[in-house]
Amino acid sequence: QEQHGAYSTGLVIPLNIDQSRYLGAVMRLSVGDEVAIFNGVDGEWRTRIHTLTKKACHLELVEHIRPQPDVSGPVLLIALVKRARLETIIEKATELGVAQIQLLITRRTNADHTNVSRLQVIAQEAAEQTERLDVPQVLAPIKLEKWLMDEADIPLIYGDEDSTHDGNSIPPMLVALRDITGPAAILIGPEGGFDETERRTLKALPHAVAVNLGPRILRADTAAISALTLYQAACGD
Ligand code: SAM
Repeated sequence: QEQHGAYSTGLVIPLNIDQSRYLGAVMRLSVGDEVAIFNGVDGEWRTRIHTLTKKACHLELVEHIRPQPDVSGPVLLIALVKRARLETIIEKATELGVAQIQLLITRRTNADHTNVSRLQVIAQEAAEQTERLDVPQVLAPIKLEKWLMDEADIPLIYGDEDSTHDGNSIPPMLVALRDITGPAAILIGPEGGFDETERRTLKALPHAVAVNLGPRILRADTAAISALTLYQAACGD
């Protein structure tokens, strides 16, 4: 009898109607087939389909496969950009191990309606595909200034295409991360970049570091992916 949190071997748990339909109608599984599951708390379990109808499914927990890792990835602060690009950012950031994604409104964001629940589904699907055992939370857009006030003590690294690249061999992102212990926040601006007031605010913050991500102007999705890739390379998360 293995017990991990609320889960233990032999326990039979219900799935919701979408999950049941996915296993039956989409994956065409049947009673007795095995399914690996995670709930973001109790790690990964091997289970067996106990009952399956068009609208319901129950799984029997067979074996605890992986413990729940402690979430140690960065927070991604992303200014709102066009929907398709934003969806790409959510998917790639999830694959690259972010702990949380905070959508931001900056002075140059075109804050057209953002469907946060759709973005959360994209994060969930990306977490399943990349076999993470936790799903990063996508937080509804708030103003950059508000986040800077509320989260004043989190180390902040922000992409700034105008910041100098001192030309030494180590990318500025890795240099910045050397001085940071614990998860940091990575901030990427909107298509139009940060405006002068925002740049001044960021520059004045004691715990904020501007990093250059290369000699060319990157789209916000490219900048987010390259910053997170460097973060993962440096921190191994
Ligand atoms: N300000 C430029 C403009 O108006 O075209 C570009 C903004 S860029 C499309 C969006 C964001 O990606 C920037 O705010 C910055 O955070 C990041 N970014 C783009 N290229 C970068 C680079 N070479 N180095 C660091 N950050 C970059």
